[in-house]
Order: sequence, then structure tokens, then C-alpha cells
Amino acid sequence: MYKQLSEARKKWAQPMPDGLLEGQIILVTGAGAGIGATAARCFASFGANVILLGRTQSKLESVYDQIKQETATDPVVVPYDLANYLDGGCNELLDMIIEHYGRLDGLLHNAGILGDKVPLEHYNLDTWNKVMQINVSAVHALTSAMLPGLRKSTAASVVFTSSSVGRHGRAYWGAYAVSKFAIEGMAQVLADETEQAGIVRVNTLNPGATKTAMRAAAYPNEDPESLQCAEDKMDLYLYLMGKQSIGVTGRQFSSANWEPI
Ligand code: NAP
Repeated sequence: MYKQLSEARKKWAQPMPDGLLEGQIILVTGAGAGIGATAARCFASFGANVILLGRTQSKLESVYDQIKQETATDPVVVPYDLANYLDGGCNELLDMIIEHYGRLDGLLHNAGILGDKVPLEHYNLDTWNKVMQINVSAVHALTSAMLPGLRKSTAASVVFTSSSVGRHGRAYWGAYAVSKFAIEGMAQVLADETEQAGIVRVNTLNPGATKTAMRAAAYPNEDPESLQCAEDKMDLYLYLMGKQSIGVTGRQFSSANWEPI
């Protein structure tokens, strides 16, 4: 089903080949629900062995079962609450990845939380710190922990999930918007640090309005049926994880205005 992801795909001059991610090892955070679950299933359908990291074990196991039914790949479930990430907290994960797969080819930072939608002056500090921990600090720490594995790849891709409010500030989006601006900055710094070695490419991706639980929480009065599904956004995720984006680094992508290359 994911090989015919969207009607839009049929219009492409160069559709993604079935074996696009054959044998690639890709870690997806927030893989138990929403865009992350779809991305993990999508990558697996194109041949990747996906490492499913997320907060809720039962959701990850459900995605794992779907992938085992849909593909012949070798997924792994890693229950991990990024709110509790401590320094060195993923060293064991790196050891497991190296032992099991030998390297890491892709890292999709997708997990995130919305926090509150209130004016900055009324933003609760505990909520602020939690959003920053999950959306920024844990992303930095996990990236740092995974870099030795990514450098063992011949061509690795790190994708940070951004948002339109992380590129242009908007009232009442508080810590979420600020965290996405931080992600954009982190990606630029890392892209600059890794560009010369030429192995690890780093880009940001704004999926745009997508029918998920987070979107429903952000826009409770919106009709979800008016939105695109995560499946409709996978073209860009595949491009950034696949060989066609080798050499592309330090760039900001948006599903809304991206044209297949
Ligand atoms: P979602 O439906 O809320 O899913 C978020 C995922 O992240 C869930 O699997 C959740 O796990 C996981 N997660 C949250 N906190 C975590 C933690 N502390 N540790 C580990 N995993 C955690 O959100 P989504 O809409 O798919 O969003 C995915 C990404 O796209 C986010 O970075 C979001 O900012 C971005 N984005 C979304 C939209 C949109 O319209 N949906 C637009 C722009 C950007 P549980 O299910 O177990 O809680």
C-alpha cells in the first residue's frame, strides 16, 4: 500500500523506486503514532530496517506488527521517554545498533510535543522546560549519541522535523515555536560541522498541516477531514532518506512547496 502512497506520486516523472531504502538502517523517534508511525512503515515498505523509538511501548509494538505483516524487513522496538533523557542515555542504544546492524544510515527526529498555546508572558515554566527537553535537548543528545553510528554509514541522513511556526514566529505558539526555531539552528550548526567530511547530511523538514493527534490538539475546531494525511507527505521523507538527496545538506524543506527532484 505504501508503494502507491498518493495520487500525487503517479504524476511524478521519477517515481521512487521500490528498493529505494533497501537494507538501510533508519531510527525514527515518535514512531508509535502520527507522522512518525507512517514514516516508519513507509521506510520499511521501501526496504529499510527501522528502529522504532517512542514513549508508549504498546503503540510501538502495534507499528512493529504492521511492519512485520507488510514487509520482510527487520524492525526493532525501543521504548524510550525523551522527557527523561539523561546524558549518555542512548549509549546502549548505539551499542545495540552497531552490534545488530553495524551502522546507522538515517535518523528522523520526529517526536515532539505541543505544549500550551498561550501568550508568552503567561507561559508556564514547567511546561516550557518540558517542551524544550523533548523538542530540543533530547534531540541534541540523541543526535550526539548516534553520530558515531551515522559515521559508519557511507551516506547518512539526519532529518529534523520543524514547523512553519519555527520559521516565522506566530502569536501564542510559545515554547513549541521557539523549540522549532532551535531545531532549525541546531540543523544549521550540525550541517556545517559535518559538511566537509561528506558522510552525514542534515536537513529540516516542515510537514505542514497533517491529520494527527497533535494537529487536532492545536486546532480543536478544525475539521480533520479537510487535512492531508501523513501518507500524503511521505514523498519528501523518502527523498531526504533516499540516495537522491546525497550531497544535499543544511537546507530547509517544506512539504507544501516541495517538488520532486
Ligand atoms: P503526534 O501525533 O502527537 O505524535 C507525536 C509522537 O511523538 C508520538 O508517537 C508520541 O508518542 C511521540 N512522543 C511525544 N513525546 C515523546 C517523548 N517524551 N518521548 C518519546 N516519544 C514522544 O504528532 P505529529 O503530528 O505526528 O507530529 C510529528 C512531528 O511533526 C512533530 O515534531 C511535530 O512538531 C511536527 N509537525 C506536525 C504537524 C502536524 O500538522 N501534525 C505540522 C508541523 C510539524 P506517544 O504517542 O506515545 O505519546
